[in-house]
Amino acid sequence: MTSSPTSTPTPSLPPARTDLSVLTVPAFKDNYLWIIHDGANAAVVDPGDAEPILQALQAHGLALTAILLTHHHADHIGGVARLLEHASVPVFGPRNDGIDAVTHPLGEGERVSVPGLDLALSVLDVPGHTLGHIAYVRETPGAHWLFCGDTLFGAGCGRLFEGTPAQMAASLAKLAALPDDTLVYCAHEYTLSNLRFAEAVEPGNVALKMRVENDSRMRGTNLPTVPSNIAIEKATNPFLRATEPGIVASLVAAGRLAPGGDAVAAFAALREWKNVF
Ligand code: ZN
Ligand code: FE
Repeated sequence: MTSSPTSTPTPSLPPARTDLSVLTVPAFKDNYLWIIHDGANAAVVDPGDAEPILQALQAHGLALTAILLTHHHADHIGGVARLLEHASVPVFGPRNDGIDAVTHPLGEGERVSVPGLDLALSVLDVPGHTLGHIAYVRETPGAHWLFCGDTLFGAGCGRLFEGTPAQMAASLAKLAALPDDTLVYCAHEYTLSNLRFAEAVEPGNVALKMRVENDSRMRGTNLPTVPSNIAIEKATNPFLRATEPGIVASLVAAGRLAPGGDAVAAFAALREWKNVF
């Protein structure tokens, strides 16, 4: 598939439609890039690579109207410059994560009216994976969505490259407080390997066993396990369950947590254990 090398200016946009869909665009080894669209206009979340985005836009007849970024890592922003050569669109992103391309800096409590789409998103600060990491939340009743980059994963969470365990635990608690039916559009397909760790630390969790069966079947036919939702994550994700008695007992038995350790200590111990699991 070829794509025009010339820049496409964004003229006056057609009126926004109300039905929105999300396209899953696999990239690299295990990334998901997300395209939110209404059949005509499209916003892309975390375009680490431009080529699969340009191909998907062309295949679906979509015009790019906005770019949304969660954090500064290359697998989330690497395609931005090339996309901007094709369409001069606003780039929304974290105010404090060192991304030069951001034209519309955002932080906790701010709201985005996404250009070209009938889509309002609110912004959460979720430091931990990086210090400036943000997440986007759609609060429309019946269509709750979360774009959380590398903060919350299917049955897991991002590594602490910049933040502290206390920061990440607080960020995850914010996400866990979203409505149960919020779809979790995270940026990587890490679910099965996360589930192996989850089973090791909480072997008695029935919901977890069901998720392992379901998600293994999905991956067996090469289907994404993402998005999950907040209810599933609260029931199965050990990083949202660090104070569950079964998990605390596993941490203590493994010599990774002193008896009586607090919630942050339990979260930190889980994250460190997963790093070497
Ligand atoms: Zn990252
Ligand atoms: Fe990433």
